[in-house]
This record gives sequence, structure tokens and C-alpha cells, in this order.
Amino acid sequence: MRPQDLLVLRPDGLCCPPGDFLIDPLRPAARAVITHGHSDHARAGHDEVLCTAATAAIMRARLGEGAAGRFHTLDYGETVRIGEVDVTLAPAGHVLGSAQVLLEWRGLRMVFSGDYKRDPDPTCAPFEPIRCHVFITEATFGLPVFRRPAPGDEIDRLRASMARAPQRWHVVGAYALGKAQRLIAELRAAGEDRAILMHGAAMKICALYEEFGVRLGALEPARADSAKSSAPGLALCPPSALQDRWSQKFGDPVRGMASGWMQIKGRARQRGVELPLILSDHADWTQLQQTILDTGAEEIWITHGQEDALMRWCDLRGLAARPLNLAGYEGEEEAAE
Ligand SMILES: [Zn+2]
Ligand SMILES: [Zn+2]
Repeated sequence: MRPQDLLVLRPDGLCCPPGDFLIDPLRPAARAVITHGHSDHARAGHDEVLCTAATAAIMRARLGEGAAGRFHTLDYGETVRIGEVDVTLAPAGHVLGSAQVLLEWRGLRMVFSGDYKRDPDPTCAPFEPIRCHVFITEATFGLPVFRRPAPGDEIDRLRASMARAPQRWHVVGAYALGKAQRLIAELRAAGEDRAILMHGAAMKICALYEEFGVRLGALEPARADSAKSSAPGLALCPPSALQDRWSQKFGDPVRGMASGWMQIKGRARQRGVELPLILSDHADWTQLQQTILDTGAEEIWITHGQEDALMRWCDLRGLAARPLNLAGYEGEEEAAE
């Protein structure tokens, strides 16, 4: 059984002919398996959608009930047969509900990782390595320069800055799905219990995380007069709102940004970020290598990101590697910056 008979790249996405479905399709599909709710993976207009319950809830909230398709939800570890293929979802550790997709067909085991990370994250189930013959990995941070500090160190730096400059608001850019909730949950775990002001975009998603049992504490929508009516604290917004009028209501705030790209000093400068926080929901270089080894796969397909260095690393270890050149998955989060 050849892997390329089980999964093949088409203009509309990664297709599984023996199951007659696509994974994270780029165009409306009759049958779609969706790894997670980020907009570049979870598009509107499919007829049947297979995903986790949390991803279904996120898609309904963001796309609207009608546009999101008819859902079939799977728990992690549960298997369903589609056509000739057994499909199992496993935690990817990326955002709430995110899943890897295990395909089993005539003795061949292939895993599509979707987006993933190995860092601890209080808002989602941790990544579980799955033994397989072919592992399909992302490579957003697939360069040796990308080795991240422990997430706790970055949270400490944010709290230290807030303690050092209590007279200034801290306005931190964080993506509305995943990063914002993770940042909040990490701060709560570290003992921060004051209300956090939120840009409108993330409030709905925060409520949804709460429904799925992730405690986020007191959150308030930021209003025009919020900054004047309470003592300076923390406000979160999408990265795009960091420089726009929204952040001006906070006077002269300390601008922060939580992103894997903050490791590149130029990017932080470019965005006028005074407090770069290196916090990512994608595997860094070390995690990519570790994960490939953990799966025991002999063949590695590398999707979106920077694949050259990872290809070479695989070659050196005698692993067959090939780039998939999956385009279209650089939408919402890290890759977009
Ligand atoms: Zn994602
Ligand atoms: Zn992505």
C-alpha cells in the first residue's frame, strides 16, 4: 500500500481517495475532516464535517450555524470508518479541540498532525505522539534558530513588567482563538486575579472556552471609557489592533505581543512592541525533531512553513522526507505575521 494512494495533494487540499474526503479543505467539500478552528483550516461551506466537539462549537460560533456544515463529532481516541479508511482523532496540543488525524488503511498508518505544539498549555489537551509509518508535519518554525524559552518565563516577564510600571496599561496582542485564552489561563495559574479587559473579537471565544471547562476568571469587554474608570491593568487585543485607534484609549500603554515570531527582534520593533513575549502554539525546532522521532515514522511529509532545514535533518537520519507544498494555510495565526 503506497502512502500516495491514501493521501494525495490536490488544488482543493489534501484528499483521501479511499475514504472520499478531504482534510482541512481549501474549498467547499462534500466531506471534510477538520483539524482545528483557525480560519485557514476551518473554512465555510462543507456539507459533512468530522471534527471534535470543541472544534464544531468554534466553527459554529465563527462561521454561523448555516455556513459551517453538518457536524459529526469524535472524541479523542475514538475511531470511525469512512469508506475504506479508519479515522481516529488525537490531541494536537495547538488550541482547544485541535486534533491530529490518524488514517489506517490496509495496514498502512498515516498521521496528519495539523498545527501542533509540545509546550504545556492549560487550555487544551497535550499532544499525543502516535506510532505511524508516515507522519505529516507542519514546519512553521522549522529552522534551528527557533528554540523557545519556557512559557512560564514569558508569563513572569509580563507580570514583572506590570509590577514595574503599575501606572501604565499593558496592552498585549494575542490571537483571538487560542493565544488569548492561553495567556489568560497562564496568568491565572500564576496568581493574577484582577479583571482583564478584552477587545470584542476574543470575548465570544473566551465564553466558549469556559463552556468547555477552561476557567479564565474575570474578563470585561473594553469600552471607550474603561481605561479611565479603573486602575491600569492588562488589556488583550488581536495583533492588528495594537497600533490602531483601539489601543489609544489606554493613553501611553506598554505594548506587548505574544507570538513565536517575537523571537525575531526586528519583527517586534517593526510593530512598535516594547514587550515581546515569545509564546507560540506551533512546534519549535526542537519539538519538531522530537515529535518526528516519537512517531517512529520512516517517512516524513512536510507541509506549510520552512521545510528545507527539516528535510536535511531527516535525510541525515535516513528518514525519507518530502515537501508537500501545501499552500493556503498561512491565514489566521503565526504564519500570517
Ligand atoms: Zn492553527
Ligand atoms: Zn495553521
